[in-house]
Amino acid sequence: MKLEVPFFSFDYRNETIREEAIKSFIDFFDSKWYVLGKSTEKFEQAYAKYSNTNYCVGLSSGLDALHMALLALGIGEGDEVIVPSNTYIATVLSVTYTGAKPVFVEPRMETANIDPTKIRQAITPRTKCIMPVHLYGQPCEMVEIMKVAKEFDLHVVEDNAQAHGATLHGQITGSFGIVNATSFYPTKNLGALGEAGAVTTNEEELADKIKSLRNYGSHQRYYNDVIGFNNRIDEFEAAYLCEALKHMDKWTTGRIKIAHRYVKGLSKVNGVTLMDIVDGAESVYHLFVVRCAERDQLREFLAERGIGTQIHYPVPPHLQKAYKHLGFVKGDYPIAERLASESLSLPVWPGMSNEQVDYVIDNIEAYFKR
Ligand SMILES: *Cc1c(COP(=O)(O)O)cnc(C)c1O
Repeated sequence: MKLEVPFFSFDYRNETIREEAIKSFIDFFDSKWYVLGKSTEKFEQAYAKYSNTNYCVGLSSGLDALHMALLALGIGEGDEVIVPSNTYIATVLSVTYTGAKPVFVEPRMETANIDPTKIRQAITPRTKCIMPVHLYGQPCEMVEIMKVAKEFDLHVVEDNAQAHGATLHGQITGSFGIVNATSFYPTKNLGALGEAGAVTTNEEELADKIKSLRNYGSHQRYYNDVIGFNNRIDEFEAAYLCEALKHMDKWTTGRIKIAHRYVKGLSKVNGVTLMDIVDGAESVYHLFVVRCAERDQLREFLAERGIGTQIHYPVPPHLQKAYKHLGFVKGDYPIAERLASESLSLPVWPGMSNEQVDYVIDNIEAYFKR
């Protein structure tokens, strides 16, 4: 029997929040206060509390949140920022925007997260910051990363766009670094209905700086202290996110159940390699990624059977046209390159049925038996 399993679906999520979403829009509409109003404040308080940090500042996107975090730390021309060589382009762009130089460090093949044992050799007198990215929803090895950062007096800025609610030894991601960024792009685990992002921090001074930076460099209207931006979160997105946050843990539990079913079903299949989860880490499975030498053929086989998959990400940043000027060539970051050629993201979204998960597992098995 053929099933349709899309790579992602909003169906269940939208169904579970439909009434609150519509009510939040009506309240927003009737409030007649459309920028930086009560909902922004309410969401910032709720998300700071959720992240176990003192402050949250709502911003226009995850990319802008990363950028504002680096600017607030005074990072700019002449500085270097360490980023994983296999991250989404936004992490790297945020460094480029400040004028600093992104310095790539390879991930571990087994987890796809930055390899803390390789950070030390990338540090120079110009290094100011390490940006770990909790890829696919799994926390990076933050104990080791924080240790290196402390030893060399470096800032840590987490890119938490894929890992809302993930924990390492009970500590939530987005609370390790001095200031951390996240995205609420619609398909993220906590997704808005458009563009949105935020930073979380315990430092009042950094939160204040970012509040000014997002608002034309001004705390008081028409008085500009620094060269700022218009990077404010939309008031409606904040209103919707207040409601979505209440549902998120339930949605995440759904993702985790699906992931565990995949692990159980696929661990016996020769031909695909599952990602390792490090000791003490609780992944929130933003993505469920497997590695396979015949990735493209497997992907096509699954597509023919109605199963949607994606590749995160097909080209690592150092080989992107946009970064040609950095002068990297194929072979410079072999682990990132191998992950790019072998990774396959399977469908995982709250509301996916066991029948659909088993259908994906059975078809992967069938591919290798044919
Ligand atoms: C989605 C994402 C971003 C960027 O978020 P936007 O809100 O789309 O700007 C940054 N880093 C990672 C790892 C992401 O997955």
